[in-house]
Amino acid sequence: MQFRRFGSTQYRVPVIGQGTWFIDERGRATAVAALKHGLDLGMTHIDTAEMYGAAEEIVGEAIARHRDEVFLVSKVLPQNASRKGTLLACERSLRRLRTDYLDCYLLHWRGRYPLRETFAAFDELLLDGKIRSWGVSNFDIPDLEDAWEIVGADIACNQVLYHLNERAIEHAVLPWCERHGLAVVAYSPLGHGDFPGPHSPGGRLLAEVASRHGATPRQVALAFLTREPSVFAIPKASTPEHAEENAGAGDLRLTREEIARIDAAFPLGPEPRELPVL
Ligand code: NAP
Repeated sequence: MQFRRFGSTQYRVPVIGQGTWFIDERGRATAVAALKHGLDLGMTHIDTAEMYGAAEEIVGEAIARHRDEVFLVSKVLPQNASRKGTLLACERSLRRLRTDYLDCYLLHWRGRYPLRETFAAFDELLLDGKIRSWGVSNFDIPDLEDAWEIVGADIACNQVLYHLNERAIEHAVLPWCERHGLAVVAYSPLGHGDFPGPHSPGGRLLAEVASRHGATPRQVALAFLTREPSVFAIPKASTPEHAEENAGAGDLRLTREEIARIDAAFPLGPEPRELPVL
């Protein structure tokens, strides 16, 4: 598994991490096994959120004996992101996760509270040792500009929608983050389950490239998305088998020619007026 510096922070984080949206109580035992297996394979970046229901508690169980190895990320909902509300939301997340700190804490998306308030709370959490860095999610260029004006280089990352059929961030958000030293975390990197089928032209190309590397189409997709050193991906897997396949992408390097062919098969498309979100 390749590790990379996470934006301008001091932390080194695996290129491929683990998402947790929609893991729930019914699949708890398998989800815990999947997360633990992922950790063993180097996918130590675990992404969760107060929004994801039981996910934080399930993550808490999975990381109980591995806390020091994990780069643990959670998110505050915009409706909780007042100064006081952020502090309280963080306490609740810490309790559910059975830990006393987060490695990175994100504003899930921009809401009605002024960014200044949320960021002041993040600062307080940093000073108290309850978080080690913080970032944003679903921030488009105007949001990033506003945030930068308030705090500059304190922002560790922007977590955004990015998969083969949704490459809008490449127009402006990704270059902006690279220029300003923010890590870009690709969420829904496998299309939230809507992955190119084996009989589609794009799917056939992924299979062909995969076979050259003894890899799978999903591994090729993840390697393509993380081809730039600023980008990390957090696919969600509910089974140890899926986790194992995703971890395999962490060592896969595509050639320039393969990247060019994938780029042509899944074209960037025109720049949308607003950043697409899920
Ligand atoms: P995703 O990771 O793109 O796709 C997950 C789907 O792919 C699930 O159906 C999963 O099935 C399947 N899958 C995963 N690995 C597979 C494999 N090796 N073979 C076959 N199928 C596989 O979608 P996502 O969950 O939306 O995104 C990933 C994470 O990003 C989330 O879990 C969450 O942590 C984060 N996220 C953040 C935001 C935000 O607003 N910041 C929004 C969306 C997501 P199984 O479950 O059966 O393994």
